[in-house]
Amino acid sequence: MQSHNPQLFSFEFYPPKTEEGAASLQVVHSKLAKLNPEFFSVTFGAGGSTRDKTFDAVVEIQAKGIAAAPHLSCVASTKDNIRTILKNYQDHGIAKIVALRGDLPSGMMSAGEFRYANELVAFIRQETGDYFEIHVAAYPEVHPQAVSGTEDFKNFKRKVEAGANAVITQYFYNAEAYFYFVDLCEKNGITIPVVPGIMPITQYAQLFRFSEMCGADIPRWLRKRLESFGDDREAIQAFGLDVVSRLCQRLLDGGAPGLHFYTMNQSAPTIAILENLQIKA
Ligand SMILES: Cc1cc2nc3c(=O)[nH]c(=O)nc-3n(C[C@H](O)[C@H](O)[C@H](O)COP(=O)(O)OP(=O)(O)OC[C@H]3O[C@@H](n4cnc5c(N)ncnc54)[C@H](O)[C@@H]3O)c2cc1C
Repeated sequence: MQSHNPQLFSFEFYPPKTEEGAASLQVVHSKLAKLNPEFFSVTFGAGGSTRDKTFDAVVEIQAKGIAAAPHLSCVASTKDNIRTILKNYQDHGIAKIVALRGDLPSGMMSAGEFRYANELVAFIRQETGDYFEIHVAAYPEVHPQAVSGTEDFKNFKRKVEAGANAVITQYFYNAEAYFYFVDLCEKNGITIPVVPGIMPITQYAQLFRFSEMCGADIPRWLRKRLESFGDDREAIQAFGLDVVSRLCQRLLDGGAPGLHFYTMNQSAPTIAILENLQIKA
């Protein structure tokens, strides 16, 4: 494959729940750090369920030398809550943030002061000016709760107008959905980078469940081939590596400004893809 060296590649972790998870993440982090990413990001449980763990992970990562970007979801949060979190990050020199609405577990009602991510972006700007580099989410295949594709795009635009600096997309396996979305951004005068979110394929059942929930389409040909491997994990991984490496290559060839990897706290799948793209430690 052709050589690329995107500046904007980044790796996403979730905060580890156990000591073993934390120890394992340290190893994963040190392997991925050798690739010199723009930043590592750490997810945040909607409603604040991982608040302290996200904070601890972010501070630890940043202390090791490469920027860390906490995710911050606003659903079920109060303004005071968010203000405190932002202040803590500022006090620790954390200057990048991924601003999201979040999803509440089904049945849980929100008593928060924010309804949508654009309100969070506006609040961060109001409270902290230009301090944070704000990344927001986008859905090239349309957010699953959106009234329509057109409305979803208008809502996405609100986040950009509220002051977002960059965009990370939900993962997808249809490159055309991404290119169409980027064209739409251009037509609407949106010039901030739209970085594709990449989910390596390492197994099938979990990916299928996940994709159903977040509205990511697994194209028929991909689903059928993955199904045909049954429990043969090695075959799934080899096939997944090939498919996702080709997707990344196509995205970069088509002008994507970088790649954001949903690592699932594993280093090997992401490193293997980047090696196929000639990006090495
Ligand atoms: C890169 C990335 C990282 C993520 N990290 C996390 C994480 O750490 N923690 C977590 O809980 N979740 C995370 N998520 C999931 C995300 O929280 C969900 O996908 C959520 O459903 C939408 O979040 P959002 O910020 O895109 O919401 P929004 O931009 O608020 O959009 C949500 C829905 O509301 C509609 N909408 C938006 N604004 C308006 C408005 N003003 N008026 C009417 N309708 C509106 C949109 O069309 C869309 O259907 C992540 C998603 C991505 C892509």
